[in-house]
Amino acid sequence: MNELELYRQLRLWLDPIGLCAYLGRRTQHGKRCDHTFRYTEEYIAKYAVEETQAAEVERILIEFGGNCDCEVGLNLCSRLSELGAIADMENE
Ligand SMILES: [Zn+2]
Repeated sequence: MNELELYRQLRLWLDPIGLCAYLGRRTQHGKRCDHTFRYTEEYIAKYAVEETQAAEVERILIEFGGNCDCEVGLNLCSRLSELGAIADMENE
């Protein structure tokens, strides 16, 4: 899958920008992270579509280069915003 397809898959389960914001806050912008996906899993449990598989979400985040909560929060937000804008334009 290319990045746009990965983004679309992710968005079926949760709000990618919401996840980024949540992780930024929970890891205090990367200062507090045990380099797992514990806060990602917390976000999924609270906000994702029911029956979302955390392992599947994490597989996609890793493909984007985010290997733990702080990397997703710090590195992926601008890219995910761009992909969101592209995806929206293509839907028009
Ligand atoms: Zn980390």
